[in-house]
Amino acid sequence: MRTPVIAANWKLQKTVKETEDFLDALIPEVKDAADVEIVVAPVFTVLMSAGRKMEGTNVELCAQDVYFEESGAFTGEVAPSMLIDVGCKRVIVGHSERRQYFNEDDETLNRKAAASLKAGLRVIFCCGESLGQREAGKTNEHLSGQLTRGLKGLDMDRVDVAYEPIWAIGTGKTATPGMAQETHAFIRSHLKSMFGGKADAIRILYGGSVKPDNVKGLMECADIDGALVGGASLKPDSFAKLVNFRSQ
Ligand code: PEP
Repeated sequence: MRTPVIAANWKLQKTVKETEDFLDALIPEVKDAADVEIVVAPVFTVLMSAGRKMEGTNVELCAQDVYFEESGAFTGEVAPSMLIDVGCKRVIVGHSERRQYFNEDDETLNRKAAASLKAGLRVIFCCGESLGQREAGKTNEHLSGQLTRGLKGLDMDRVDVAYEPIWAIGTGKTATPGMAQETHAFIRSHLKSMFGGKADAIRILYGGSVKPDNVKGLMECADIDGALVGGASLKPDSFAKLVNFRSQ
């Protein structure tokens, strides 16, 4: 009932040419992929040309960040409607690197998500605990706070949640399927407390060193509805394998 989402987060990587070459290789490999939503999030400067390449394909363009104002004196920022203007269908909000290096707090992220939804984008809203929080037994408490503040008042029909334990991002340390499922089940129960029965339809993606050789085990878990992938999304053959996870 929840269509899986496989999303590439390229972070600060790939030029226009590199992106075009990637998409030329990827699109034929995934064109017949059924029952999966395919999402690629390049840097801002690449969005327009990537959007053109994706037109008429089953690959959707996503931005890695957005601002919550539509226009004005906000040097360096990009508005939700500007993302739509260049072909974006989605935006990632609240990646742990934005929280950590750019001091984005849950209230700011809530405003970013609300403005994005208002403009017509889908949102991938990220949450996740640090190693210290996990070791101190504070994972659930931390996630509840992030979700309660970050998702407050949002129309969840167009929001996917991404659970990304910070200790698993880019480290090669993936949560085991059992560990990830346990936390995803907790997240769904928290979403139920916030949004009632609607929570059953919300996709919860896992992120943190997902690779072709571990994707299937993760995707078999009852509450894991997709993956948000950094490192293993940078090569078209590796990302195509993730998209085609059922045949791994
Ligand atoms: C990410 O950037 O969201 C991520 C999960 O990265 P990686 O797959 O490299 O751990």
